[in-house]
Amino acid sequence: MVKKLLKTVFGHDNFRAFQEEAVEAILSNKDLLTILPTGGGKSLCYQLPSLVKDGTTVVISPLIALMHDQVSALKNNGIEAEMINSSQDYQEIQNITQKLVCGEIKLLYIAPERLSANGFIDLLHQININFFVIDEAHCVSEWGHEFRSDYRNLSKLKEIFPNVNISAFTATATKKVQEDIVNTLKLDNPIQLRGKTLRDNLLINSQKRVSNGRNQLLNFLQKHQKECGIIYAFSRKDVEKTAKFLQEKGYRADAYHAGLSSEVRSGVYTDFIYENIDIVVATIAFGMGIDKSNIRFVVHVSMPKTMENYYQEIGRAGRDGLPSETLLLYSKSDEIQRRMLIDNLQSSEYKNLMYSKLNKMYSFANSNECRHKKIGAYFDDELLECEDLCDSCNSQELESQDIKTQSMKLLSTIYRCEQRFGINHIIDVLRGSKSQKVYQFNHDKLSVYGIGEDLSKDGWIAVSERLFELEALDIGEFKATKITPIGLEILKGKIEVSIDKYKLQSIKKERKKDEILDVNDEIFEKFRELRREISSEQNVPAYIVFSDKTLVDFANKLPLTKDEALEVNGVGEVKFERYGERFLNLCIELKN
Ligand code: ADP
Repeated sequence: MVKKLLKTVFGHDNFRAFQEEAVEAILSNKDLLTILPTGGGKSLCYQLPSLVKDGTTVVISPLIALMHDQVSALKNNGIEAEMINSSQDYQEIQNITQKLVCGEIKLLYIAPERLSANGFIDLLHQININFFVIDEAHCVSEWGHEFRSDYRNLSKLKEIFPNVNISAFTATATKKVQEDIVNTLKLDNPIQLRGKTLRDNLLINSQKRVSNGRNQLLNFLQKHQKECGIIYAFSRKDVEKTAKFLQEKGYRADAYHAGLSSEVRSGVYTDFIYENIDIVVATIAFGMGIDKSNIRFVVHVSMPKTMENYYQEIGRAGRDGLPSETLLLYSKSDEIQRRMLIDNLQSSEYKNLMYSKLNKMYSFANSNECRHKKIGAYFDDELLECEDLCDSCNSQELESQDIKTQSMKLLSTIYRCEQRFGINHIIDVLRGSKSQKVYQFNHDKLSVYGIGEDLSKDGWIAVSERLFELEALDIGEFKATKITPIGLEILKGKIEVSIDKYKLQSIKKERKKDEILDVNDEIFEKFRELRREISSEQNVPAYIVFSDKTLVDFANKLPLTKDEALEVNGVGEVKFERYGERFLNLCIELKN
């Protein structure tokens, strides 16, 4: 029954780690505390049992934006979900209350302060609550980083509803915070599930900021063209300046901070989730609870306040489990600036706690040790070294790798294209792309067409960067790539060329990403277009229609029947009813 719902309603074939145990605990009427990293799939742990049990599940969640996304996603899966919060008018709340009392709502989302509102507890007494969910439960703890006084009041829940079980969820909790959650919420002998802190789809980097860090930022973004990401900056001014800088460089980026009007902010938020812009540059005011699953990168252009903040913020990347990358740019001056803010605090106990958190943050940024392991250690989780998922581990192997053949292929393609084209076009020819430009210049007829299909686009970029570094390549008029005398020697096979092995490893990793994400750029793009079309027609965020993972699976499988479509990751009955036909039509079109 549970497995069937997992497939038919949510479209997933298997549970992820700890999901089944969490579902089981709720179904057997136990209190529960689940600590799973962002993207671990916490929502499903309570949404699925909510469907199995009679009654309504009341979910307490800290932010309206978060509730809004969750409710839209549930409704989109055909589940009766609603929220009550301060953004709604009286009539709207009345209508929801009515449905609630009639038992027509499966999941009700509320903010913690709602519990203190006049008559709300009485209302809850009138309905059949199957269990409570406390999302972002670390907010109850003063030891955490996002303590909210409204969350403290949740300690009364057990007194008021002694017979209703509570399930608490969070992504970040040290052992101390974990204990605090259990005690504050008065959980009764709870099942405690603690997932690994490791986010094995995140490639984590940290670099000392050089000058204002702009070059480092551009270099990083080069690898993430057209992908969605968040860039965190320290102050509103930094946010504005960085956003402007990126706009001038041609990026679809916008600024977001608390100093902007709420209309502007919600406009930026909406543009981001509907994919009208790719990058949001923000202060920490942005992102808590953001549900967008296909954020491919997170950059900090200055050091965050604590490891908890950092881990939450980078955690917003890659919730769909696909490879994503993070970059932290820091300097000693960030640490000094943060220290001065703490100096002004009142309570000495709190001050000491914050100094110690700051030290740990700085030592993380500045460390040569495995970054995943360090994050794990901070959250009391013993992890092995990641080996190839962070810059520290990657740079330990400074062995080099021979790329003579690849270099010769690249140079020869530049030569055959008469040294008149930019590097992207050269790579297109090498990889046998079917782009219009390739046909326009008859480059598909060249002997070099498609001889570089074994390496991803990013791999070829790394090879070309190495050749630029060796001064084998130069850029001429109209960005055309030119071969220098050194390049000619390499082309004739007279000079050996190698690259640092770690760079090649990241090429391999990029290839893995290519295999998943870019199997066929053009086909994937077609599915994205269809998703964007549906998203704006129906006013639903793109990733709620279908995740990137689902689109990739569609592009790979190109199903032609309903049964085949239901095999696609993330397609359940309800979503099939809603969008299946249009996606099948596209598949048929693409197969012909
Ligand atoms: P969290 O709240 O822990 O950050 P979410 O509940 O938002 O994570 O889930 C993250 C992503 O993982 C979502 O896109 C969701 O559809 C997907 N997901 C959840 N459970 C599964 C599963 N069992 N199999 C595949 N994908 C899943």
